[in-house]
Amino acid sequence: MSLELQTQIPIRSNVSLAGLTSMRVGGAAEYFISPRTSTELANSLVWASDRDLSITIIGAGSNLLISDRGLAGLVICTRHLRGIEFDEQTGQVTAASGEPVARLAMQIASHGWSGFEWAVGIPGTVGGLVVMNAGAQGGCAADCVVSVQTVALTGETNLMYPHELDFSYRTSSLQESYRLVTGATFKFQIGGNPETIAADTEAKLKLRHTTQPYHLPNCGSVFRNPLPQFAAKLIQDAGLKGYQIGNAQVSELHANFIVNLGNAKASDIFSLIQYIQKAIADRYGVVLETEVKMIGHF
Ligand SMILES: Cc1cc2nc3c(=O)[nH]c(=O)nc-3n(C[C@H](O)[C@H](O)[C@H](O)COP(=O)(O)OP(=O)(O)OC[C@H]3O[C@@H](n4cnc5c(N)ncnc54)[C@H](O)[C@@H]3O)c2cc1C
Repeated sequence: MSLELQTQIPIRSNVSLAGLTSMRVGGAAEYFISPRTSTELANSLVWASDRDLSITIIGAGSNLLISDRGLAGLVICTRHLRGIEFDEQTGQVTAASGEPVARLAMQIASHGWSGFEWAVGIPGTVGGLVVMNAGAQGGCAADCVVSVQTVALTGETNLMYPHELDFSYRTSSLQESYRLVTGATFKFQIGGNPETIAADTEAKLKLRHTTQPYHLPNCGSVFRNPLPQFAAKLIQDAGLKGYQIGNAQVSELHANFIVNLGNAKASDIFSLIQYIQKAIADRYGVVLETEVKMIGHF
C-alpha cells in the first residue's frame, strides 16, 4: 500500500527487503522509503518521529542479515541519494551516501587519482563504507576520509571529522551514533597516470573474483578476524568448508563467506553462524564475532 497521497512523501508499507540485500534473504519492512532528495529524507525523519517509530538505515545491504520476520518501524534505504563532485585543485572528492563504492572507485581511477584502488570490489555504498570502515588489500575508509556529512535521526545536520569517528578495524563511532551519513569527503593523490591506476584497479578486482564467491548471494566476510588469527583459516582448518544448513553453505571458495545456494532463509544463515561459532570455540577456544550486521529478531 502506498502512503504517498496521505503523507506527500513516498513512504510505502510492507515492503520486501530480501531483494535489497546481497544475501537475498529477510522479511518485509513495516514502512519503507528510499529518498531521492534531502527534503524527502528530512520529511521521512519527521514522519517517523511523529509516530514514534524506530528507524533502520540500509545502504546496498551488502553487510546485512535481516530477520525473516522483517523489521518494525521505518527502513530508510540510501541508495537513491547520489552525486559525486571532484575538486581538481585539492584532490578531494565528495560523494553522496548512496553512491556505489565500485562506481566511485572507477571514476577516481579514470581521473588518474590514486588511493582508492583497494575499494573497487566492495559492493556497498559510500555511507556503508564509512560506517563500517570497510577495507581491503591494505586500504580502508579511514585512510582517505576528510569529513562525513550526517543527519541525526532527530533532524539536525552535522559535519564530523576523523578524530570524532573512532575508526578502527571494520568499525567507527557512526555504528552507535543514531545518525544517518548523507555524504563523505575523501582525499586522494592527484596527477597519476590514469592507465596505470585503472590497470591496478582492474587487477585488484580480478584477484577478488578468483578468491571470493561473487557468483552466489553472500554478505562478504561473516566474521571479524580474531587477530592475529584469520577467521577463514580457522573455519577451513576445522573442516567446515561446504558445511550446509538448509540452503546456506560455508563457501567452498572462501571459508569466511556464507553463500545462499537459493531460497535460503535468514534463519538458516543464522543457525550456520551459530554452528560455526560453537565449532571454533570448542576446537580452538576462539570467539568469532560477526562482522555482518544482524538486524531484527532471530
Ligand atoms: C562479495 C562481497 C565482498 C565484500 N568485500 C568486502 C571487503 O573487502 N571489505 C569490507 O570491509 N567489506 C566487504 N564486504 C561487506 C560490505 O560490502 C561492506 O561492509 C560495505 O561497506 C557495506 O556497505 P552497504 O552500503 O552495503 O551497507 P549495509 O550493508 O546496507 O549496512 C551496513 C551497516 O551500515 C549502516 N549504514 C549503511 N549506510 C548508512 C548510512 N548512510 N548512514 C548510517 N548508517 C548506514 C547500516 O545501518 C548497517 O549497520 C563485502 C560484501 C560482499 C557481498
